Amino acid sequence: MTDVIHLLPDHVANQIAAGEVVQRPASVIKELLENSIDAGATNIKVLIKEAGKTLIQVTDNGKGMSLTDARLCFERHATSKINSAEDLFSLKTKGFRGEALASIAAIAHVELKTMQNDDEVGTCIKIEGSEVVSQDVCVTPEGTTLCVKNLFYNIPARRNFLKSDTVELRHIIDEFQRVALAHPGIQFSLFHNGSELFQLPETNLRQRIVNIFGGKTNEKLVPVEEDTEIVKVSGFVGKPEFAKKSRGEQFFFVNDRFIKSPYLNHAVTAAFEGLLKDKAYPSYFLYLQVDPKSIDINIHPTKTEIKFDDEHSLYTILRSAIKHSLGQFNVAPVLDFDRDATLDTPYEFSNKGPVPPKVEVDPNFNPFQNERSGGYSSSGFRKEKSSGSWESLYTDFDQKDFSTPSAINQVEFESDEVTGNLFGQSEEKSSGSTTFQLNKKYIVSTLKSGILVIDQHRAHSRILYEELLKNITVTSAVSQQLLFPLRLQFSTNEMELLKENEESLEQTGFIFGNFSKDSVEITGIPTLISESEVAILLEQLLSDLENEVPGSSFSQIDILAKSLAKGMAVKSGTLLNSEEQQNIVNSLFACKESTLSPYNRPIFITLTVDELDKKFM
Ligand code: ADP
Ligand code: MG
Repeated sequence: MTDVIHLLPDHVANQIAAGEVVQRPASVIKELLENSIDAGATNIKVLIKEAGKTLIQVTDNGKGMSLTDARLCFERHATSKINSAEDLFSLKTKGFRGEALASIAAIAHVELKTMQNDDEVGTCIKIEGSEVVSQDVCVTPEGTTLCVKNLFYNIPARRNFLKSDTVELRHIIDEFQRVALAHPGIQFSLFHNGSELFQLPETNLRQRIVNIFGGKTNEKLVPVEEDTEIVKVSGFVGKPEFAKKSRGEQFFFVNDRFIKSPYLNHAVTAAFEGLLKDKAYPSYFLYLQVDPKSIDINIHPTKTEIKFDDEHSLYTILRSAIKHSLGQFNVAPVLDFDRDATLDTPYEFSNKGPVPPKVEVDPNFNPFQNERSGGYSSSGFRKEKSSGSWESLYTDFDQKDFSTPSAINQVEFESDEVTGNLFGQSEEKSSGSTTFQLNKKYIVSTLKSGILVIDQHRAHSRILYEELLKNITVTSAVSQQLLFPLRLQFSTNEMELLKENEESLEQTGFIFGNFSKDSVEITGIPTLISESEVAILLEQLLSDLENEVPGSSFSQIDILAKSLAKGMAVKSGTLLNSEEQQNIVNSLFACKESTLSPYNRPIFITLTVDELDKKFM
């Protein structure tokens, strides 16, 4: 008998560990940010290239590492954060496993530059696939810079499974925001391919939320505050009237760590009971401080789920705290630090004379001056110029004259048959057209007292979205049979997702068959799409499904409908004839919700005669 068991070499063990710790560039960002925070940094700067696939660099002004520590930090189970198993129950740091750096170094080209506060020189270590390539003394500012290049360079399979830059970047932004929201007292910045995505100064929580989600958020926030023996709750919930149609802005932090908790989410929803429109999700940014002994953050490898000792009490406390705040603040105006104070009527108004409204006059304004010379636009009357001069507005229209037969012949629809079917549904034939298309992007239509500018892609997405939802939940759509079945390849994950959603997809017109481990045969597709689009559409759909937190089977269907609608809708840049324009307008206003796209973006804007009049003053 020969012995067959042997210990894995370190670099192999590290690579295996990396599989758990590092799923994608965003995981690296999370680990590095957490390390910087644990190191006491007050300023953390993140640079990434190509959504982190080629470069992730995190620079902090934390306490840095000694020469020995700099070497040790890449060893597995090397940590400064716990000493014994008991420490696990009183964690004050984000990290404790001591595997992040070892894992990252196993699957990327890593460069560490670090210097401790009282040292004169720092250390620079380069390590590739767990192997130290060089170690030097270097000049570097106090703190640490970790540079991770070519992630998964030695695991092509993992690298190939990374999503598009857009998707990966979204994951990065998600992680970045979570960390930044948990630590408003720390300054953060994020740069992607040289351009600045976030620049967050050190501030309070409210301002941090506003800095991340935009100035409009401020007036929507209702503070929540509750201090009990079990838990201290603080933070904000969004006013019910601003609830979103998706779960985008829902954040729980427990002891400054972002967590997901369907149970606590339920407590929040329960507090909003009766206040929300159907299918609307309230925003929340809630911070729970609990005794570290009462939680176990160890149950999930990437640590976004935790176990509470007394979940039930937390539920009740949270729900009543939010209810209380909603009751208290819903009527009262919220203090608004962003608001222009001069617009408020001050209490000591009686002591002041009225302030005449300021009129901005451009002394250089010359109506006869050619607009292109710049005099006109600087007057402030016209912030945006649609085109160089007014004549070009007309020439623009001429080029797009959809009434001439030649222009119609140029129309490239993804499938004629398809669009015919789609737009043929309405019997209405508009002879005297009241719409026209602008820039192959907007449909302009007249109102009784103004004009309506509709984003064609968003409008069509909305129409399809509602139709698809109906198909999936009520009446299934017809499908077009393919002459030759398509066989599409997918990853294991994607195949799982596809099977999970097979039924819903078949309701929209897909017909699947012959499932194998990594491929599926498609024999029928919805009438609204052409065969050549199927692969892209499904790929996009699966990645959307993968990237959303599946809350319930409904939200899964919702994501599916949204994603398909987005993929099927006419793109901007597509020329539409007047009948198609009319059909979009009519179908849009027959929708249950016609103002917002499935992704909550405005579908149209109106310009009233009054507003036009003002522009001509
Ligand atoms: P963990 O965070 O679980 O301890 P890591 O592999 O992430 O494990 O880091 C290992 C050790 O390296 C940390 O415990 C810490 O002592 C040190 N370290 C990592 N990043 C930094 C940093 N940015 N500044 C100072 N020390 C760091
Ligand atoms: Mg760590």
